[in-house]
Amino acid sequence: MQRLAIFGGTFDPVHWGHLLVAQTALEQVPLEQVIWVPSQNPPHKQAALFEHRVEMVQRATTDNPGFRVSHVEKSRSGASYAINTLIDLSADYPNTHWYWIVGLDTFQTLPRWYRGQELAQLCDWLIAPRLPGGENIAQTESICKQVAQKLTKQTVDIHWQLLNIPLVGLSSSLIRNFCRSRQSIRYLVPESVRLYINSQNLYING
Ligand code: ATP
Repeated sequence: MQRLAIFGGTFDPVHWGHLLVAQTALEQVPLEQVIWVPSQNPPHKQAALFEHRVEMVQRATTDNPGFRVSHVEKSRSGASYAINTLIDLSADYPNTHWYWIVGLDTFQTLPRWYRGQELAQLCDWLIAPRLPGGENIAQTESICKQVAQKLTKQTVDIHWQLLNIPLVGLSSSLIRNFCRSRQSIRYLVPESVRLYINSQNLYING
């Protein structure tokens, strides 16, 4: 049975933090591939056009045979929900043990996701430390345990592991803010992504 991970996100834009998280997952589990899934209509966010975000993920990942970009969300009307992504990808990739890659901030919200209890059990969770409050690794682990306990109380049996990466204080919002204030984003995103953002005049206004 092959081992694949889904890495869902808005990727508005993709940055080095995302790439490091995905590469670490690939090596640590290890996985055959990470499938990047840019979301079409993120439930809680306004984002750049789907086509722009996919193109940037494509450019950022093209040289890595362990990465694949899925367009499964392209035809999605209405909100993008993780459970639907997994169901659709399971049809395309039978005989797969599924993993789901998330940052700690996202993992903390799992108990509130649409059909989150069901989804929690359908894959193993690979959690990237992400610490807005400056917590240390022991606190990260304790936050993950609290989420798992909350789900256990709801009779959900969840498997998870922390990804062993250094903290990367990068976010797409930070990149967008830099663009807006005309600060350089060189070395914050892959060069191919930076050039695309410049050529399309993304994130300059609004
Ligand atoms: P925004 O700043 O717009 O909220 P973001 O940087 O969080 O965007 P997303 O595309 O929303 O990017 O993130 C996709 C996934 O990657 C989420 O699970 C998020 O927690 C995780 N992630 C993003 N950046 C990092 C990072 N620097 N370290 C660890 N995880 C990250």
